[in-house]
Amino acid sequence: MKDFFLVVNPTAAGSRVEKIWNDQIKPKIDSKLDYEFEFTTRIGHALELSQQKANEGYKVICSVGGDGTANEVINGVLKAEKKSIFSAFTVGTGNDIPTVFGIPEGDIDAIIESLINGQDKKFDVGYCINADRYFGGVASMGFDAEVADRANKGIKKWRGKGNYQRAIFITILKFKPYDIIIEPNTGPIVTGPRMLVAIGNGKRYGGGMHICPDADPNDNLFHGTTLRKISRLLFLRLFPRTYDGSHLTHPATETFEGNIIKVDSPKKKCLYQVDGEILGHLPETFVTKPNFLTVRVPDPWIPYADIWEEKLAEKKK
Ligand SMILES: [Mg+2]
Repeated sequence: MKDFFLVVNPTAAGSRVEKIWNDQIKPKIDSKLDYEFEFTTRIGHALELSQQKANEGYKVICSVGGDGTANEVINGVLKAEKKSIFSAFTVGTGNDIPTVFGIPEGDIDAIIESLINGQDKKFDVGYCINADRYFGGVASMGFDAEVADRANKGIKKWRGKGNYQRAIFITILKFKPYDIIIEPNTGPIVTGPRMLVAIGNGKRYGGGMHICPDADPNDNLFHGTTLRKISRLLFLRLFPRTYDGSHLTHPATETFEGNIIKVDSPKKKCLYQVDGEILGHLPETFVTKPNFLTVRVPDPWIPYADIWEEKLAEKKK
């Protein structure tokens, strides 16, 4: 039995991952890691493989791809009977989940170093009761779930970031707000017409949009953000501010917290997504699972909040 099993999604990042694997990752790890790997061939395959390989006793199951692959591997690891450690090569279009755990973003050498000499650290994950699905990053409903749905359906025709931008543009033209009811276990109920609701275990989605800037995967709490009904023009101006988190200072945004949060849209069917995967329509109840996922991270480990703060400070210079 080898120590590492790598789940490689060759179609991630607009099918660039197969080349990244062959040219940049495999030649470097062949002499350094005791590992086996397999290419995924369809949606759901990464989850099945990870669950199976965890049950066979591999110590570390490592996702090679983006957030879609990472979400499946996390679910496979957590649904297995034997305990395995999760890690990831962050080489997809969006790498929001592993990055928030402190895994270096896109730095293949640093990731190899952390796989060999890193430490194992526990993190919270979110869990959707109705869909029976774990998530590491953000669950959301409304505008961004419609974007994710359009982007997923367009992925074969429109590759990479162009596909995502096209999905955002069409959704802005067609979007109508939802009458949402948010019931956090620890705070006041939030109701009314909303453009979107985001529930953060991690701070970010969509490749660096910090929609829930206060979220922390070590505090056993979700940090949520909602956006009230606003004009298309204001929406277009406000959405880019999620990159530095400054959208929270605008009065159209509202935050909430809780470790069990029920969300419903009783008047109109509303899609929801976690980590970029559409799971169906509301209602859903989101629960935090504290210290539930063990992740191989660099040693010393730097909290993602510090890494992000440093990046923002560099940009301001
Ligand atoms: Mg948290």
